[in-house]
Amino acid sequence: MGEYKRVGILGGGQLAMMLCEAASRLGVSSKVLAPDANCPAKRTADMAVQADYEDLQAVQEFAADCDVVTFEFENVPVRSLFSLQEANHIVAPGAKILAIVQDRLTEKQFLQDNQIPLARFARIDKVSDLGPAMEAVGLPAVLKTRHFGYDGKGQTWIHEEKKAEAAFDLIHHHPAVLEEVVPFVREVSVIAACNYKGGFVAFPVTENVHEAGILRQSSIPANCSVEVAETAIAITRKIIDALGYVGVLAVEFFETGNGKLLVNEIAPRVHNSGHWTRGGACPDQFEMHIRAVLAMDMPQPKCASSAKMQNLIGADILQAEELQNAGWQVCDYGKSRKQPGRKMGHAVKWQ
Ligand code: AMP
Repeated sequence: MGEYKRVGILGGGQLAMMLCEAASRLGVSSKVLAPDANCPAKRTADMAVQADYEDLQAVQEFAADCDVVTFEFENVPVRSLFSLQEANHIVAPGAKILAIVQDRLTEKQFLQDNQIPLARFARIDKVSDLGPAMEAVGLPAVLKTRHFGYDGKGQTWIHEEKKAEAAFDLIHHHPAVLEEVVPFVREVSVIAACNYKGGFVAFPVTENVHEAGILRQSSIPANCSVEVAETAIAITRKIIDALGYVGVLAVEFFETGNGKLLVNEIAPRVHNSGHWTRGGACPDQFEMHIRAVLAMDMPQPKCASSAKMQNLIGADILQAEELQNAGWQVCDYGKSRKQPGRKMGHAVKWQ
């Protein structure tokens, strides 16, 4: 091991790209492992290894000279993380945490077991589960696959009982959960970090706007009351403590008309709704994650009084120049422009 600390990141997308950038600001060496030779993180990582996440040997070799291994997305095979931990590598957040969060059902059960408020839900394994689940949850409801759902993928709404089977067909009868539709007044998220000693910091509560299940905009300050914001942070802390979490964690909430918060989901990583911190907070969420997982000090972030972030999805990236001229800081992920609906970049403005 050299004199520099080194972080290994499984995943090579834009989150890894920004984590590597932050590592470099801290004098930390960074290394990514991803199957895609042209991944966005390749441009900012000190080293990039092209391999499959399931390739246990490649993952072990990758970790050999890292002080800690972390990940930028939920769908890293937990088997690879467990094998690293068995070989005494430090993995943060840990494999067990990822195993809980990778499955919407175990994530919800974990939250319920810890008295965290969330929407009514029911488990769906087969067609005959639909009737009792609709009875328990009510309609309308959202049917969500337990695994591999993100950005609204693997989700379908059920408005009438007779359409339930067709909805299950749409998600190919994959194991799922049925969730009540929450008539929220706003969606908010908390990005927080915890280190090995239990030190906790949280960024200001962020308000989010989704369209078709995909995040479009985030802003601070969130338009909620001080009490709601404090409750959101307190719930986040309770989740972090219950998980024994190390690193940055995001918690997404629905706020209902009576000022009640329900947890929608948790993300064991840096999060799209925290992109405003890149420029709008010091340290930003990426630096905070590197600091947390490498047991460095975690300063309370100094944040702008207001900030906005908009995602640039698909052809939105063509507005980059216009946005820059209007005072937005644009981050282009450098992805191939051929796929519509893909997150291509984001723009941030703060005061
Ligand atoms: P998810 O991938 O579960 O975070 O869902 C993406 C987005 O879809 C959420 O941020 C909401 O805007 C919407 N959504 C998901 N589940 C529900 C629900 N149970 N009630 C209302 N809106 C939902």
